[in-house]
Amino acid sequence: MISVTKPFLPPQAEYEKYLSGIWKRQWLTNSGPLGSELEMKLKAHLEVKHLLYVTNGTIALQMAIKALELKGEIITTPFSFVATTSSIVWEGCSPVFVDIDPNSLNIDPSRIEAAITENTSAILATHVYGNPCDVEAIEKIAQRHDLKVIYDGAHAFGVRINGKSIFDYGDISTCSLHATKLYHSIEGGLIMTKDPVLLKKLAYIRNFGFNGPEAFAELGINGKNSEFHAAMGLANFGYIEAIHQHRKALTERYDTMLRNLRASKPEWHGNASLNYAYYPLIFENSEQMLNSLAKLQGNGIFPRRYFYPSLATTLPYVEAKTMEITDDIASRILCLPLYFDLTSEEVDLIARLLLRVQNN
Ligand SMILES: *Cc1c(COP(=O)(O)O)cnc(C)c1O
Repeated sequence: MISVTKPFLPPQAEYEKYLSGIWKRQWLTNSGPLGSELEMKLKAHLEVKHLLYVTNGTIALQMAIKALELKGEIITTPFSFVATTSSIVWEGCSPVFVDIDPNSLNIDPSRIEAAITENTSAILATHVYGNPCDVEAIEKIAQRHDLKVIYDGAHAFGVRINGKSIFDYGDISTCSLHATKLYHSIEGGLIMTKDPVLLKKLAYIRNFGFNGPEAFAELGINGKNSEFHAAMGLANFGYIEAIHQHRKALTERYDTMLRNLRASKPEWHGNASLNYAYYPLIFENSEQMLNSLAKLQGNGIFPRRYFYPSLATTLPYVEAKTMEITDDIASRILCLPLYFDLTSEEVDLIARLLLRVQNN
């Protein structure tokens, strides 16, 4: 069976090496040495000013909304994972969906201003598949209307734009280190900000608001992660480059094999590096996509309709709203298998099956 993704695991001995240290110190969580080491390594690797390692990418979003004290309406994208929208609702705010750009599949900045009301407090945008949003346009709109900006960078690990980290943009950027993501610590998340005051507040929020053993600085939550998770992050750290190179090679193989397929890929940001987190294909229509999906599934290959359906039409806690571009793209997009253990022979097989559907 070939799934859309398969988590990377380092050699077991490399993980166990970290475990023996944990047994020696008997320090299991709460800003232990492995958690701190991971934060330092990731900060240097990503070239960001400040970074916090947290439980997961969802709590990272919730903490971001809490720390910025957002109220009322938050403008967001319907073409993302459910956590982007659910975090807004969980924090007592209302999501206001703005349709996506048909080329980048990210929120369309030219449609944002029409959605701003006197109750709008922020924009929460996703760098879909790791492809950067139009950060300059979003920044201009935010400045003009005095709005905060949060980027859900769950897919964007390692992406650089204009010569710096994509996580440098917005008031706060977040990332997910979940097992299915490009780089992972089993469960895990990152929060990045350039603002030292905001960083301090987020650090309090991560640890119940504690300011010393008997004092509290903030309303907090438990957003900490454990030494065991940090150990996996550290064991995986040494493989970031190898994983990148292999995914790049597989992506280029797909591109070559599928050059005659009547399908397109999202248009990548012109000034950004690629991280090869996903291999999305936009078919000409949903029938062609569904036939392709059935063909692959019949051969034990399981791509995913990622993202389908649109978040604006499916959540029981949000009023349903049709969105022209999002609904159209969601009806005909498929993410093909892409992971470290995938071979180029398997890519060739997948490509041949897709071409066979088209040529039938
Ligand atoms: C995976 C994902 C999240 C949530 O991250 P978790 O670490 O699983 O909580 C949020 N947003 C997007 C776009 C994601 O893909």
